[in-house]
Amino acid sequence: MIANIVWLSDRNHTLVIRDPHMKLANLEGRAVLIASDGTAHDIHELSGARFGPDPASLFPLWDEVSQWAAQLDELADGIVVDDAKLGPPSPLPRQIIAFGLNYADHAQESGFEAPAGLPPVFPKFVSSLSGPVTTVALPEDGRIDWEVELVVVIGRPIDGPISERDAWDHVAGVMAGQDISDRATQFSTPAPQFGLGKSFPGFAPTGPWIVTPDELPDREDVELGCTLDGTQMQTGSTKQLLVPIPRLLAGLSGIISLYPGDLVFTGTPEGVGVGREPQLFIQPGQELVTSVAGVGELRQRFVRPESGHESARRALTAVAS
Ligand code: ZN
Repeated sequence: MIANIVWLSDRNHTLVIRDPHMKLANLEGRAVLIASDGTAHDIHELSGARFGPDPASLFPLWDEVSQWAAQLDELADGIVVDDAKLGPPSPLPRQIIAFGLNYADHAQESGFEAPAGLPPVFPKFVSSLSGPVTTVALPEDGRIDWEVELVVVIGRPIDGPISERDAWDHVAGVMAGQDISDRATQFSTPAPQFGLGKSFPGFAPTGPWIVTPDELPDREDVELGCTLDGTQMQTGSTKQLLVPIPRLLAGLSGIISLYPGDLVFTGTPEGVGVGREPQLFIQPGQELVTSVAGVGELRQRFVRPESGHESARRALTAVAS
């Protein structure tokens, strides 16, 4: 793999540290590296069974995996990737944490003041997680909206307060993500149901692979956007984040632990459907394409729920009343 080489020397030794540049994907349940020619290489085979094959098993060993990947020669002529066979690059996060209102224009279109401190935090439950190319059933009576986001994947554990300066050292890489949201469920009760409204099956597509921060031209300025049936709905850059990634992680670390493989959705720029005049929501048959520069694309096709399924939201409000 391509690697940055950093020379550190003291009086007696010269130590070579190579930063790995890599793209890590989940191809049919197996961890693979994606080479610069776009082909996939099975990590279990390539490492002589030292790592993998389960993608989830790599994150607790992130330092070792990075060091191993950094000393690989350039890869080519691997498996041609069928993106419909890609799963979530981190398939078993213990937590999926999401930030709301982390772009000023989006806070405004949502009818909120831009938060002064750490933006509001909510869970996306892991049962909503998926890979990059999927079909998503629209919940009955839903008002389904899009939110393109940069997703951070944790590498080194965070088990106590960390400084902003150290935050990127705990990041394995970044991915494209969609924080798909049912506004009907989210606002069905007097106190908003953020976690449930954003956790229907397939509402957290991620991928197409994890890109290490060194692969990006500027890890704090990543352009992102999404289209619905070819019409541009959102564009932005993570340089517009009200609270940038290092401060988000440092802020979380004061209260919770973050485990290897955990995901952090960092917020969405303006252009969501609920903030439009008139409001616009996803209809059956439509396709949402999410893109993150330097990372890749997600593609979600939306369909009606299978008949006979009770409305989840109706059940929720019946319980509440
Ligand atoms: Zn969001």
